[in-house]
Amino acid sequence: MSTIFDKILDGDIPCHRVYEDDHVLAFLDINPLSEGHVLVIPKERRAFLHELSDDQAAAIGRVLPRLARAVMNATGCEHYNILQNNGAPAHQAVFHVHFHIIPKLADRGLGVQWRPTSLEGGEELAARIRSGL
Ligand code: 5GP
Repeated sequence: MSTIFDKILDGDIPCHRVYEDDHVLAFLDINPLSEGHVLVIPKERRAFLHELSDDQAAAIGRVLPRLARAVMNATGCEHYNILQNNGAPAHQAVFHVHFHIIPKLADRGLGVQWRPTSLEGGEELAARIRSGL
């Protein structure tokens, strides 16, 4: 399924590009939560993070801290969130993997609802996850 980010990658619709290499494109979000809200995407089309190859993931991971530093320098923000949504119930709207870099500036930025519970059955759960690696 093609998405709006494919059109951006193909140059069919414009974006404010901040970074590009052979594997990664980063550009300003069209509806920023705060000034400097940047999206970082792999050039290969994948809907979800778990579908990325190790190489694609490495390409993004290599540049993400550098982009965060550039956003901090440009906006003066000292704090920021990295957000990466997978699936509509997890607030994903565009089904092409993307990482948000969202500066926390005064009252602007990411709002998070965090409802912690107590860990139970941790040893068994960790073993179950390890067995899927
Ligand atoms: P999601 O909810 O899928 O994690 O976030 C998708 C993001 O893509 C949103 O923050 C939205 O503003 C952004 N977005 C959607 N369409 C466009 C577009 O055409 N151009 C740009 N630059 N950003 C877009």
